[in-house]
Amino acid sequence: MKILVLVKQVPDTTEIKIDKETNTLIRRGIKSIINPDDLAGVEEALKLKEQYGGTVTTVTMGPPQAEKMIRELYARGVDHAYLLSDRKFAGSDTWATSRILSTFIKTLDYDLLIAGYQAIDGDTAQVGPQIAEFLDIPQVTHVTKIVEQKGKNLIVEKSFETEVYTLSVELPALISTIRTMNQPRYMFANYIWTSFEKPFDLITFNDLGIDQNTIGLNGSPTRVKKTYTKPVVQKAPKEVMEPEAAAKKISQLIYPYMEVSNS
Ligand SMILES: Cc1cc2nc3c(=O)[nH]c(=O)nc-3n(C[C@H](O)[C@H](O)[C@H](O)COP(=O)(O)OP(=O)(O)OC[C@H]3O[C@@H](n4cnc5c(N)ncnc54)[C@H](O)[C@@H]3O)c2cc1C
Repeated sequence: MKILVLVKQVPDTTEIKIDKETNTLIRRGIKSIINPDDLAGVEEALKLKEQYGGTVTTVTMGPPQAEKMIRELYARGVDHAYLLSDRKFAGSDTWATSRILSTFIKTLDYDLLIAGYQAIDGDTAQVGPQIAEFLDIPQVTHVTKIVEQKGKNLIVEKSFETEVYTLSVELPALISTIRTMNQPRYMFANYIWTSFEKPFDLITFNDLGIDQNTIGLNGSPTRVKKTYTKPVVQKAPKEVMEPEAAAKKISQLIYPYMEVSNS
């Protein structure tokens, strides 16, 4: 199976600080990480490759610093990576980002496209679905489990509020993955050594043949009118209960689709 995974480099939100004067994020000096939902997607892709054979390729749009993240992806076992990077891409909203990524993906051969459900910085969960629409392929979002490949189809489980659906989707298709679906493997010592020499492809504006008026700030239909920091209001409901019952309740609040055993 030829698998493409969309991977975004994001600031580590556990380290985010707000500039109290301007109410904007202080990005300087903040550590960057692989978006957690995307890392889950990479892990699922690597597991599928182990089971069915094939390749795992990542596609990232971002600044040149994303190379560091690509090295980490190689150390985890990814076969090849593309970095789409150009000053002309800057200022793109989700629509323009999806246009750039899908224009490039159209030039690739793939069976399965995996996106993270949501990026922890932009948080819109729009890019995966928009790309599937631009590519005109079926999509299943919020996948909690990949069950198996059956002929031309992929069987997946998807959570929807309190329900879990088992769905069959015809390939090529896009699925979006969530961070709780697996525990990503650590980097392999052997791959760490080779990751530094392994080449990746840098794709720029001129490689895409895309209309400049449809990307960047000018091509973005979104206009951010105002940003502000939400005041923290501590009005959480309080309940007194035995530790076991409390643990069960917390698990169900965090993972409503998970069966909690009584043992
Ligand atoms: C007006 C406007 C201007 C902006 N200007 C800039 C700017 O100058 N620089 C900037 O960095 N951001 C900018 N942004 C933010 C940028 O549009 C979003 O970060 C980007 O579109 C992704 O949206 P998201 O973070 O909500 O991703 P989501 O839709 O939540 O992400 C879902 C999944 O899509 C995939 N994905 C998302 N983005 C990428 C990517 N770049 N590469 C690979 N996979 C990806 C990942 O798998 C991710 O898990 C701007 C936004 C707006 C509205």
